[in-house]
Amino acid sequence: MLCERKGQIEFAPDSSVPHDEQAVAFHQLPPFTTPPYCPQTTAIHAELQRVLSGKQLLLSELPYSLQTLHEQYQRGCIAFEQSIRQHGPRHFQCLRCGNEQFLLFAKLTCFQCKEHDCVYCRKCLMMGRVAQCMPLLRWIGPPFPYPSIKQALQWQGKLTPAQQKASDHLRSLVSTGGELLLWAVCGAGKTEVLFSGIARALELQQRICLASPRKDVILELLPRFQAAFPTVTIAGLYGGCKAQEENAQLILATTHQLFRFKEAFDLLIIDEVDAFPYSYDETLEKAVYKAKKQAALLVYLSATPSRALQRKAEQKKMNAIYIPLRYHGHPLPLPRFQWCGHWKRLLYKKKLPKPLQHWLIKQLESGRQAFLFVPSVTVLQEIVPLLKSIDSTIEGVFAEDPHRHEKVMAFRNGAIKVIVTTTILERGVTIPFTDVAVLGAEEKIFCESALVQIAGRAGRSSEDPSGDVCFFHYGKSNAMQSAQYHLIKMNQRGRHLT
Ligand SMILES: [Zn+2]
Ligand SMILES: [Zn+2]
Repeated sequence: MLCERKGQIEFAPDSSVPHDEQAVAFHQLPPFTTPPYCPQTTAIHAELQRVLSGKQLLLSELPYSLQTLHEQYQRGCIAFEQSIRQHGPRHFQCLRCGNEQFLLFAKLTCFQCKEHDCVYCRKCLMMGRVAQCMPLLRWIGPPFPYPSIKQALQWQGKLTPAQQKASDHLRSLVSTGGELLLWAVCGAGKTEVLFSGIARALELQQRICLASPRKDVILELLPRFQAAFPTVTIAGLYGGCKAQEENAQLILATTHQLFRFKEAFDLLIIDEVDAFPYSYDETLEKAVYKAKKQAALLVYLSATPSRALQRKAEQKKMNAIYIPLRYHGHPLPLPRFQWCGHWKRLLYKKKLPKPLQHWLIKQLESGRQAFLFVPSVTVLQEIVPLLKSIDSTIEGVFAEDPHRHEKVMAFRNGAIKVIVTTTILERGVTIPFTDVAVLGAEEKIFCESALVQIAGRAGRSSEDPSGDVCFFHYGKSNAMQSAQYHLIKMNQRGRHLT
């Protein structure tokens, strides 16, 4: 796509530019102002309005002719914005994903602008290439009017007093804007706490997004939300899915998908704010701020909020709600620490640490199920064959495992008694009668929040509210101690409630 100058700017395909006129690539245009919105001229393109409201898209993502788009531009409904801004010889900024790292930009011989050094962003390449000659399109006309949906919530369950209090608080904050930390222990039932606030937002014609860093979480939440809000169209957006309902009023998405939105949401809920990769990737943080409307309510959900968030809440710089008690009212199981010697050397010699072996035998006799967390895929591949010699049903599962979902299913239905895993399963999987162990709990990957989450896998159901949590280690780490202290503190807070 090239842009033509005739005193006025006109967006037209390369082929339609007459010979006597000069066409220029988008990023080489002099600064120009978009015409103001004018209601009298051509009608608003309703479908385009729906598709483009709250988004920032490339031309290739919109199935409309340039002529249609140009008409809407002239009417002041669409803005063509720069996608990659150059601030200096080695300083670029991608306006879609916020990337400013020089090494994450590259040059190509471009078929669109015909230049040999057209700059593109590598950081958001998985969403389709954005090069500097491609504008980002945004809807700046009247926003798409979402309906007011009354009585959308059909969920019949009952909340505990602590959940109810949190739920009422959230509901009262919808439409006030600002930030809210919802700090709930693992197993507090925080999803149900969100329902009433979301229902209120739907009533107020708001657009809502719940974003989680993990696709697994989105897949687990989708059916629960669909059951709770049966009359509402809910879109699930995650890597690898064909998103047809991107314009839905209620969206559940992985955090990466937020890059596609701009000033879209009135209520934006970020699940597991402390979880990888969100807490390590500040561009995702930028995506969150970009995707929400200015006056939106931003809700952070976490069992283990970062120190920075905790401080903000303590200093009353943001609203905070605590749910220190699990929905069944029992305290969180506390981890016990078990020294197991130089386990890495033992594994290298194809031997299991004795304390771990005893734990496993007792575990298999008990008839209960167990997670065994290990620090890396390498350790997983070393230990699984050794464990299989004790019980052949034992399986290991890791992020890139092609049989990951089958194995998790087999664990869920009890065919696998003990599952060995890397940190992928630390969240979101709830199975009753499950104990938890960590081998190498002193390793760096097991930070405080990871250990708190792991301990939280045990005792989640009311039929089995406790459970054994054992950290096998070769020297206690600070993170192990902080995790234990964290759980003790939450239990104390919970005791004050009962
Ligand atoms: Zn980018
Ligand atoms: Zn180009």
